[in-house]
Amino acid sequence: MRDETTVAIIGAGPAGLTLANLLQRSGVDCVVLEMRDRSYVEDRQRAGIIDHHAGRIFEEYGLADRIVGDGPVETLMEIRTEGVPRFLDTPALAGGRPSRLVPQQMLVRRLIAAFLEGGGDLRFGAAGVTLHDLDGPQPRVTYDGGELGAAYLAGCDGFHGVSRRSIPAGALETYSFDHGIGWYTVLADAPPPRYPLMGVSRHGFAAQFARGPHASRFYLQYQPGEDPRSWPDEHAWEQLRLRLGDPRLVAGPITGREIVEMRSFVAEPMDFGRLFLVGDAAHIITPMGAKGMNLALSDAYVLAQGLTDAVLKGDEAGLREYSAVCLRRTWDYQEFSRWYAEMVHQAGDESEPFRRKLALARLDRLFTSPAAATAFADLMAGTD
Ligand SMILES: Cc1cc2nc3c(=O)[nH]c(=O)nc-3n(C[C@H](O)[C@H](O)[C@H](O)COP(=O)(O)OP(=O)(O)OC[C@H]3O[C@@H](n4cnc5c(N)ncnc54)[C@H](O)[C@@H]3O)c2cc1C
Repeated sequence: MRDETTVAIIGAGPAGLTLANLLQRSGVDCVVLEMRDRSYVEDRQRAGIIDHHAGRIFEEYGLADRIVGDGPVETLMEIRTEGVPRFLDTPALAGGRPSRLVPQQMLVRRLIAAFLEGGGDLRFGAAGVTLHDLDGPQPRVTYDGGELGAAYLAGCDGFHGVSRRSIPAGALETYSFDHGIGWYTVLADAPPPRYPLMGVSRHGFAAQFARGPHASRFYLQYQPGEDPRSWPDEHAWEQLRLRLGDPRLVAGPITGREIVEMRSFVAEPMDFGRLFLVGDAAHIITPMGAKGMNLALSDAYVLAQGLTDAVLKGDEAGLREYSAVCLRRTWDYQEFSRWYAEMVHQAGDESEPFRRKLALARLDRLFTSPAAATAFADLMAGTD
């Protein structure tokens, strides 16, 4: 069966679903093809913060109440160094621009519901997606049981998706970086911290972030060669108490475990012919600074505007600029994330005393220099 649409979107993660909703609101026809089933997509737990910049995207399209909701607004953040707490009021430092706590699975559920209620065409379980004629005038997508012709394709299928791999070798320049840092992350039914919490410690880095009113995501740095999946849960809780400097930290049932190897990746340019790469399909970033999902939302916004101008006004200038605009923000955030990761990991690393002192000086500067604190807060809130 062959269908036609204006924009074929591959992938129903934060990038694809945001793009679909913004196009729907703008009156541009689109179809979303997602290889997984709906419950898998709706239950995938990852990020938790919509930064201020990304939140404004939904405001601009009249979707803020529906999508961002009234989840808790971020206030302070806490960094404990060897158990000694210090606080930064990042929203105030950024000129009153708070981020909001919205777990990724909640965002995804809301985006799906809004798109479907608006009459959107979202096809779950679309296996075998293959992209054709990317640089021709009439690209198309085939999948098991169907074919979709489109004027434009949006590759929103994450790092392991098919879209980026469909671009001919040599047309993309790719940049990969291994930060040499591994985290064991667990999701637990344990009371969330009062504020987003990071622990800098000679025992290794740790962090705790809220994931809803009764759950927390914890992060524990592990050393190269270790396999934290073999740690008994009690060992993980002991390490969290030690590194977060909180002997009374309340444990709870662990509902998810993952290894996060801190890697960065960027593909340039983010387009080829009539295919545009969006979000993790084009770039991945470490979780330091919480920018992965926010970059995906920002890319979707820039592309939605470019596509709307192209389709409704015949003006492709925004599409020509798409890659450059998104890459500028991507590299800015990559630098921020690297800087942040180095600081909080090296500040506890006794095996490198000189680097440790430098990292501690960087950290101190955040709490002693208003200019440094403001620059940090500006990036946390998200940049245009
Ligand atoms: C453990 C973990 C913690 C994280 N924490 C944070 C955080 O705190 N803050 C933050 O901002 N970011 C965080 N991230 C990153 C964030 O989750 C991603 O940046 C975000 O999901 C990117 O959205 P996306 O839509 O581009 O890609 P994805 O979420 O990967 O969505 C891609 C979609 O495409 C589908 N798909 C894939 N291949 C195909 C195909 N061939 N055909 C059809 N569909 C396909 C997938 O099933 C998926 O639904 C975290 C990631 C992980 C893994």
